[in-house]
Amino acid sequence: MNHAAEKAQARLDYAARSSIGRVRTNNEDAYLLHDPLFAVADGMGGHEAGEVASKLAVEVLKQFDSPLTDTRVLKKLVMAANVQILEAPRQGIGRSGMGTTLTAAVLDNERLLIAQVGDSRAYLLHRGLLRRLTSDHSYVQELVDSGELTESETRHHPSRSVITRVLGNEYDTEPDLYELRLEVGDRLLLCSDGLNSMLEDAEIQRQLIMDRPPEQCADALVLAANQAGGLDNITVVVIDVLELAERKPRREHRLLLAIIAFVLTLGLLIGAASGAVWWYASRSAFLIAENGQVVVYRGLVGDVLGIHLQWKVENTGIPVNRLTAPLPERLEQGIQLGSLADAEALVSQYREQLAEHPQP
Ligand code: CA
Repeated sequence: MNHAAEKAQARLDYAARSSIGRVRTNNEDAYLLHDPLFAVADGMGGHEAGEVASKLAVEVLKQFDSPLTDTRVLKKLVMAANVQILEAPRQGIGRSGMGTTLTAAVLDNERLLIAQVGDSRAYLLHRGLLRRLTSDHSYVQELVDSGELTESETRHHPSRSVITRVLGNEYDTEPDLYELRLEVGDRLLLCSDGLNSMLEDAEIQRQLIMDRPPEQCADALVLAANQAGGLDNITVVVIDVLELAERKPRREHRLLLAIIAFVLTLGLLIGAASGAVWWYASRSAFLIAENGQVVVYRGLVGDVLGIHLQWKVENTGIPVNRLTAPLPERLEQGIQLGSLADAEALVSQYREQLAEHPQP
């Protein structure tokens, strides 16, 4: 079975729109539709370098073809994009100081993985309710987090565009990572701040909740942001989860499951067999010569697979050498009996023998 056939992915419907807005002279946003990987990037840097940075970021993501089933892989990818942007100016691409936000989402069937740097956002419309999935790396978000500012006050704050983490600034920049579960009917939105700086979350929810395909939804969001002022570039990616694949265990998992089942079965069998031997041993008894005397044991003479199943019951004090042949010899080997009662009966016989033949 090849890998593609084993890969169970969600069936998605998606669309993206990017608008220059009504004020800016160029569009520094970029987006990626590379099912199951999606992204929005918002570049900055002036003299069109922002465009270069955001495009570089999505290009690096696009080149990646292995399944992104792990947030660590997604993180590495975003960090690779960061290095690419930092080093591009030395190769004459863009300008030093250029940077970009990046909100990247992988829909690994029902698992949603998100990597986040900057102030672009991911939102999820789940059962009619909008939830913001990411936290902005911005000065105003820090003020909100520390309780100094309310969410709606950020909209008009003079430092609202100050971003505290971007790709293209430092080599050790890491994304925030998020992981959550998706359901059929969920609608995911990735957007640059040109959308959410123009529209309140309630308006974004109102737009997303309307029953129309992602293309129309994306158009409507961009239109609404432009009608609200369009002060910045506006980019949206809308993804609908139409169907989730039933996950079949991968071949190596199936093998592992079979091994586990085998080991468990074997363990149960061994356990049952041990239990039966234990039960049998605990009901049995034997007599044996120890230091010249007859001793009563519960259990089995010798051992079972190297394990002694015997418990001393009584030192009878009967001297072995005073018993008639061939008893002394047999007692050296041990006389196995079915029960403790049988053992006691035999011990009584020995005592009678001693009484009949008192020591001279
Ligand atoms: Ca922007």
